[in-house]
Amino acid sequence: MKRIAVFPGDGIGPEVTAQAMKVLRTVEKISNIKFEIEELLAGGVSIDKHGIPLTSEALEKAKNADAVFLGAVGGPKWDSLPSDKRPEKGLLGLRKGLNAYANVRPVKIFPQLVERSSLKAEIVRGLDFVILRELVSGLYFGAQRGIEKIGEEERGFNTMIYHSSEIERIARKAFEFARRRRKKVTSVDKANVLEVSQLWRKVVIGVHKDYPDVELNHRYVDDCAMQLIRDPKQFDVIVTENMFGDILSDEAAMLTGSIGMLPSASMGDKVAMYEPIHGSAPDIAGKDIANPLATILSVAMMMDYSFHEAKAARAIEAAVERTLEAGYRTADIFSEGTTKVGCSKMGDLVVERLH
Ligand code: NAD
Repeated sequence: MKRIAVFPGDGIGPEVTAQAMKVLRTVEKISNIKFEIEELLAGGVSIDKHGIPLTSEALEKAKNADAVFLGAVGGPKWDSLPSDKRPEKGLLGLRKGLNAYANVRPVKIFPQLVERSSLKAEIVRGLDFVILRELVSGLYFGAQRGIEKIGEEERGFNTMIYHSSEIERIARKAFEFARRRRKKVTSVDKANVLEVSQLWRKVVIGVHKDYPDVELNHRYVDDCAMQLIRDPKQFDVIVTENMFGDILSDEAAMLTGSIGMLPSASMGDKVAMYEPIHGSAPDIAGKDIANPLATILSVAMMMDYSFHEAKAARAIEAAVERTLEAGYRTADIFSEGTTKVGCSKMGDLVVERLH
């Protein structure tokens, strides 16, 4: 029995999570894997019920599960709250609480969606790389932060801080990933300007000594942003700081046609967390038009990484691909000549093909 703590969250979170749960229940039917699912609150829904974005009870349950699954959190309703009370703090609290320091974001284009990419088909066809984003440190977590009054002025500040041990463990993950792929790591930093990046680069070079079979190169973050548009197929594994990874992975998402297509895993010591890379999309919430495929593909990642059920993972991916092949599209990936379906229907279509 695999115990999964599920946080549907806010906005489209519950809509897309419901499709992922249909997929999980179907996996139970077609294999002998069994799941015990507990739904918990994080984000705006937790603020509404408990006054805080993540309770210690919910975090404890997540820590004791075999895997954690999250839809998305946040929304305009809670935007005016002070930053430590906002829904996103619940998500950061979960990541930190699980010590999920390595966010793995595969960027892979389905052949059926090549024409949907904002880039030319020949630039993106066959695209397949992974972004490893450091997730529990860096600019988003630097303790020296705030907005303070200095005389007539206000001053806002955050700090990007990394300890060498934090860089080392994510670098190691990147080299391990690359070993199972095309054996190439690109470390992204801003070492021409930031001291913290100079340390990053030094530590990555040090770790590389243990992986001589893997090629390592370095790119500045601004250059990497440009290369992702110019020639994204040059990448195999990109490893980078928290905020750099946040921005680059959204950029990379667009290469694949839609942010609604990209899954992610956040791995740490023991319990990993799976979630689509998109947010709660308040602009389309409650309309049954969100794309659930990123969330469904996150289930496939959970099968792979937490449960070592590669067969189930491949079956889910194949079901998604067959659904696209049959011409079904949600609004974000729709194009002339395909069939537009809603979020729930897309979930059903994938489930049909999983049977
Ligand atoms: P977003 O990812 O929610 O939306 C960006 C755009 O992409 C929107 O136009 C949205 O409609 C579209 N989109 C996103 N997911 C989609 C899907 N599955 N199908 C179709 N279209 C989709 O980012 P945002 O608008 O910057 O943020 C909205 C809220 O989500 C904010 O409160 C933000 O803090 C939060 N957020 C949460 C997470 C998370 O929970 N992991 C991540 C990012 C943003």
